[in-house]
Amino acid sequence: MKNARLTNGQEFPIGKILCIGRNYVDHIRELGNEVPAAPVVFSKPASSVISVNQQIRIPSYSDDCHHEGELAVLIGTEGKHITIEKALDHVAGYGVAVDLTLRDVQTELKKRGLPWDIAKGFDTACPLSAFKPASEVGDPQKLQIKLSVNGTVRQDGSTGLMIHPVAEIISHLSTIFTLDPGDVILTGTPSGVGQVVSGDRLLAEIPGVARLEVTVA
Ligand code: MG
Repeated sequence: MKNARLTNGQEFPIGKILCIGRNYVDHIRELGNEVPAAPVVFSKPASSVISVNQQIRIPSYSDDCHHEGELAVLIGTEGKHITIEKALDHVAGYGVAVDLTLRDVQTELKKRGLPWDIAKGFDTACPLSAFKPASEVGDPQKLQIKLSVNGTVRQDGSTGLMIHPVAEIISHLSTIFTLDPGDVILTGTPSGVGQVVSGDRLLAEIPGVARLEVTVA
């Protein structure tokens, strides 16, 4: 069992990790994808989570593991058919995650119309920071999100550029899945995704909210 930790000491056992794909236009363009009408939804198992100072292990069946730095949302109270207006009331805190993606494997699976799980859900595929309580964060659409590899900034975006903002994502997901305390939502990545290799040091950051440093074994 893995726990999501709030900076105020509160902890939740991690439930579902629901992820939104293609939520920033600049990232959709860099991969040559279509802008989707509805959010692209996939999930990662809780077993894929690692925290600060643990190591990423790239599976042997991939030669191209990509980083995707993302705003992570921790659900604090249960809900189903949550309205956009009430959506942020269900958030316990905000953090930063890396949606590690085996791009070569995912590209092949997409081509064959197969699910992405082995490209996105392997052990260590979800480095996750501690969460800052929502009451201390303010507007989740006014955050900077940055990811550096070995000290070089690769991603630097604003959550204001999301196609589907956090409240809309929560509302939409809650029409499909009951959201429970401990569920985590990854909200998509801005442009600048790229490869990580053995020995790399990743720093994912939402200044003033969360910071996460992990290395690749
Ligand atoms: Mg992603």
